[in-house]
Amino acid sequence: MSIYPYIAKRLIFSAGDRFLGTHIVKSLNELEEKQWWEPEKIKSDQSDKLSKLIKHSYENVPFWRETFNKLKLTPSDIKTKEDLKKLPVLTKDCIRKNLSRMLAANFPKKRFMEQHSSGSTGEPVKYYIDKHHYSCNVASMLRFWKWAGYDSGMKWVRLSLWPHDRLLEKLYDRLARCLYIRVFGMDEEAMAKDVQRIRKFKPEIIRGYASATYLLTKYAYEHGIDDIKPKAVITTGDMLFSHYRKLMEEQYNCKVYDTYGGEGTMIYGQCEHGSYHIDDNNVIIEFLKDNGNPAEPGELANITITCLNNYSMPFIRYNIQDLGKARSGFCSCGRKLSLMGAIEGRNSDIITTPENSHLIVHFFTGLFEFIEGVDQFQIVQKKLDEIEIKIVKNDKFTEDDVQHITNTIKKGGGQSLKIIFNFVDDIPVQKSGKRRFVISETKPQLGS
Ligand SMILES: [Zn+2]
Repeated sequence: MSIYPYIAKRLIFSAGDRFLGTHIVKSLNELEEKQWWEPEKIKSDQSDKLSKLIKHSYENVPFWRETFNKLKLTPSDIKTKEDLKKLPVLTKDCIRKNLSRMLAANFPKKRFMEQHSSGSTGEPVKYYIDKHHYSCNVASMLRFWKWAGYDSGMKWVRLSLWPHDRLLEKLYDRLARCLYIRVFGMDEEAMAKDVQRIRKFKPEIIRGYASATYLLTKYAYEHGIDDIKPKAVITTGDMLFSHYRKLMEEQYNCKVYDTYGGEGTMIYGQCEHGSYHIDDNNVIIEFLKDNGNPAEPGELANITITCLNNYSMPFIRYNIQDLGKARSGFCSCGRKLSLMGAIEGRNSDIITTPENSHLIVHFFTGLFEFIEGVDQFQIVQKKLDEIEIKIVKNDKFTEDDVQHITNTIKKGGGQSLKIIFNFVDDIPVQKSGKRRFVISETKPQLGS
């Protein structure tokens, strides 16, 4: 038996914490204990954390102090999850308009870690986290991974969008036994190479965006490749359709564990029994109807998050613009963390180009979330060789952005793809209440 997992846990991860000034190992140990707590204890711990966050927000964050004052509330009015309804729901638009006033005044500038997100709705937003939040969130993610069978020191594949070629990143991958695969434009040639690398590496865990993992699995399936044998697949980032899960489970003969988070906060992970557990130790989730009232379990609702750890920029009752359903009762795995259904209404179509390259949701989110001149975007493909990009721009948008968007899409999707820019005032929401941002109407669609 390899002693690498032991060394990895004892030395590498602890050393990483010391080097980065984080506390991931400590937080993970705490979370592993807390998952077995009784519901009353989980709730009272959650309320304690909420009270501290609210007091801090009132005392140090101008936006929240003004909000409280306007509503004639004081921190003592918000002590539990049920009290949160006294506060308004926070929207992306509100964050964009008030960003500087949403930052904690008692935090030195160098402690803010800038983040970008466009979630699943095509509305980029910039926000900030701190090292405490980062540590708690990575620990939350690792706890979910452990449910899937991951342990430190295991060989794992990570499918992601970002370039990953700095020396420090490569060193980290080496130590963490990670094969990093960048899924940028997924054409036949790139997928053949990626699948070969995975075969050679022999991973125990494969972790990636649901769509990208599915595409590679489909490639392996169609080419009769059957020697990739992970113990589990962990998906994240976009919607895990049932046909994605079915193919992956059949191809690898292992379970697929879905995880979900947004705006730097883990929200749910699947346990061995397949239930979707909310991380009540780090986040409060409310399921709200459009009128703001709480939805019943089983009723499709707006998901709002109150992250209990981000003191640099508190997210309180933030509407993450995903839809889901609460579930009542407890899972037979013994964990008393509350339950919900899988995310619904996340639309993650894939754009297939004439060169047969596949551009997944994260290709576009990764491109647009760093362009500050874009308030909203939507990609519509009606013909194979043409996409329309609808953009709601603001005054930071420049001609250079047009060039950058064009170049990046052509680099990933091929030169023959025609790109039409359409600047609009608004992008209407779907009947579901979601604003789909990648819509492909061409045939053949991937999977069915
Ligand atoms: Zn469970």
